[in-house]
Amino acid sequence: MAGMEPKEALFLCALQNAVKHGGVPQAGAVIGMVMGAHPELRSRAKEVSALAKEAIADVAALSPEDRITTLKTKAPEMFAALSERHEHKKVLPDLEKAEKGVVMRFAPNPSGPLHIGHARAAALNDAYVKQYGGRYILRIEDTDPKRVDPDAYVMVAEDLKWLGLGITETVTQSDRLSIYYDLCRQLIERAGAYVCTCDNEHFKELKQKKTACPCREQTVSKNLDLWQKMLDHGFHEGEASVRIKTDLNHPDPAMRDFPAFRILDAPPHPKVKAHVYPLMNFSVVADDHLLDVTHVIRGKDHIANTRRQKYIYDHMGWEQPVYRHYGRMGIEGVVLSTSQMRLGIKEGNYTGWDDIQLGTMRALARRGISPEAVKNAMLAIGIGETDISFSWDNLYAENRKIVDPIANRYFFVPDPVEITIGGAQKHTAHAALHPSDASRGTRTLEFDGTVLIPKSELSEEVTMIRLKDLFNVRVTWENGTPSFTFAGDSLADARAAKARIIQWLPVQQATPCTLLTQEGTMAGRCEPLVKGELGKVVQFERVGFVKIDAASPDGICAYFTHK
Ligand code: GLU
Repeated sequence: MAGMEPKEALFLCALQNAVKHGGVPQAGAVIGMVMGAHPELRSRAKEVSALAKEAIADVAALSPEDRITTLKTKAPEMFAALSERHEHKKVLPDLEKAEKGVVMRFAPNPSGPLHIGHARAAALNDAYVKQYGGRYILRIEDTDPKRVDPDAYVMVAEDLKWLGLGITETVTQSDRLSIYYDLCRQLIERAGAYVCTCDNEHFKELKQKKTACPCREQTVSKNLDLWQKMLDHGFHEGEASVRIKTDLNHPDPAMRDFPAFRILDAPPHPKVKAHVYPLMNFSVVADDHLLDVTHVIRGKDHIANTRRQKYIYDHMGWEQPVYRHYGRMGIEGVVLSTSQMRLGIKEGNYTGWDDIQLGTMRALARRGISPEAVKNAMLAIGIGETDISFSWDNLYAENRKIVDPIANRYFFVPDPVEITIGGAQKHTAHAALHPSDASRGTRTLEFDGTVLIPKSELSEEVTMIRLKDLFNVRVTWENGTPSFTFAGDSLADARAAKARIIQWLPVQQATPCTLLTQEGTMAGRCEPLVKGELGKVVQFERVGFVKIDAASPDGICAYFTHK
């Protein structure tokens, strides 16, 4: 929801509150909610406050039913969050014909690693298999050699392992070409398909005119001969294809006698030596049927394919699975196109498939997003047909629930300045590794008069600061130069002086640390103990959660996860 206008944010927060509690909320409560959910609007506080009454009035004007429908449509994730809070676990809507168990599949093309767009189908199908019991098939759809990246087989497997899905079996379509060839022969025998040797352009013209091409009337035995000739390399690319007999009067020209098999001369397939390839609609139907798939959850962009596929089911006398097509999900802020990612990596704009600018599973993992958070965020989005935009904030909120109780706390001082504090005794500070779990113990920081603090904390209006877990420091300015003196350790004094409580480091306990964020790099120092957290998510106090990516004698490299 980043970049939302104040009025809309107020309206949605007021609406969510009204749906949750019945009545209409107070302006103060709504403003607080908006500031919490949209920190980027804090700088526009005046504007937000001025609009609150209006937004609440808009909600008040809606009937209770309309409030629910509006929230569901405009912000399905906010609606989902409500039921989540009430029921703890978001339950997906029931599927028909699922009582006796289901067989479902996740069917990615191995054209690159999996990204956040894939996660929805992967997680939803997984959740349904868990809900009803049954089999969950991973089907690698690699019958379009132009869209196969040989490395993707391994990457997809790794990504799914990371996501932790309950896959029960894996099939790879390029291993199954002979099965498809055999089914094609059966389909031709049933007069459901024919071999078309028309020039492609000519076929298109006829199709636009709803006219059959001459090949459509060929006898079954002629079609079988031509099919054999296709398999025997008797044709080159573009000279022959197999077409499904559909309805030439179908209002959508793309439905009319669509192709099921084609010949590809050139591109070598990394796994098979073949020359005749099934097109997606054919191989998907063949496998959904042969693997006993009962339910297919996929995006709305497949609705036309579902219609095309029905013709094949009907010709073969097979029953179609139950389909659910969810709405489109816009994803902003990361690069998702496989070809763009590949190019960017090649040109050195990204460090690899796990560069944090990308929306791949491996980039999320590298940033410290947990697979559970990804799955939970996808389940909260659900299978609704409404188009939505993916909310990074919701993913981060899911992730925060997981990492907050686990992550140890440390100080990281970005862009540090060294300050010497007069009048202070040497002192050992004990800071909790976790604020709500005392059993984890403390880190010790040895204060000996000089510390590092973030440079950004010093400006002339600052007259007192409190060094977290240490004491208060009075800041006196003379000709733009600050000096620092010990000012006791009373928290009440610090509060009265509205002192910021800031992170700090003893100079001798400050390890170089680079924090990489999607916006850029922050250089600073952190506690030496952070080295022991390699591979884990910790919280840099007042900065946010970070994943410790590398630790060497030269220092630490961390990736920013979220606030
Ligand atoms: N391989 C197809 C895709 O990734 C999925 C096919 C399907 O879900 O039926 O778009």
